[in-house]
Amino acid sequence: MKYFMTTAMAFLTGLSAAIAQELPKASIIKSVKTEKISIYTVVAPPEMFTNTTHIIELPNELIVVDGQFFAPYAQQVRKLTDSLQKPVTRFYISHDHPDHYIGFGDAFPNVPVYALEETKTGIEKAGQQVLEQRQKQFGNIIAKSLNKPSHVQKTGKEMIDGVAFIFEKSLNNEAAASLVIKIPEVKANILQDIVYNKTHLFISGNTDGWRKAIKKEESAKEYTLILPGHGKPTDRSIFQTDLKYLDFVDKTLAESKSKEEYKAKILAEYPDYGGDHLIDIYLAYYLKKDWDKK
Ligand SMILES: [Zn+2]
Repeated sequence: MKYFMTTAMAFLTGLSAAIAQELPKASIIKSVKTEKISIYTVVAPPEMFTNTTHIIELPNELIVVDGQFFAPYAQQVRKLTDSLQKPVTRFYISHDHPDHYIGFGDAFPNVPVYALEETKTGIEKAGQQVLEQRQKQFGNIIAKSLNKPSHVQKTGKEMIDGVAFIFEKSLNNEAAASLVIKIPEVKANILQDIVYNKTHLFISGNTDGWRKAIKKEESAKEYTLILPGHGKPTDRSIFQTDLKYLDFVDKTLAESKSKEEYKAKILAEYPDYGGDHLIDIYLAYYLKKDWDKK
């Protein structure tokens, strides 16, 4: 525990130093370009958890999915949407984890925010308190205000600006409830935290439901562009990669006698993954295990 408090502190000190100089910039990837639809993804840097925001450019409007953790990256998203010169008509929040909804309140104070009923309720209940806690923890790279969901997204097919969108609900995966958005015309499956790309998966307990959710999406073979909640847009190989990661987590959890040992083994197996501090955070606060009795 002591060790993890120290690494968390070191991370914060490192962050303050980074802010004092300049934060590393997010990268922007364009994964779709057709006559009707373009998709841009803003990906926060690996040391800042690789959170993604997807901007779907339709003929007359923009649909945005997820709002970043750190406010400067939401500002970078805003710059991009401004440059496209079309209004953001819907801002989606995929699930109620803070790294997807606390970043964008200042950058997008007036956009209509859409989410599943469960996500809307969750953010109404805890959002403000979570925002204030993170402000205390991380300082001025956290947004000052929250833009909470105002619209409930129902599941099913919907035409938006002449393009078909399929909205689905996935339960009991990395989060309790998450929104999946499919765009058949460009074979895109927006899965957010059901998949992570080259980023340590956030483990908070039993992973059986998560595996089930991944396998369900893997069976939707017609979708070849996979958009994760952490890391760059990718292809269908991500399903097996993430299932393998979860297997390794289970095996390593069973074998390890301490948090330190567990973390070292994960880092050794996945040396090129970003988001090392996600491991510190879930080990310190979320994942319950009786380490000493092993
Ligand atoms: Zn996340």
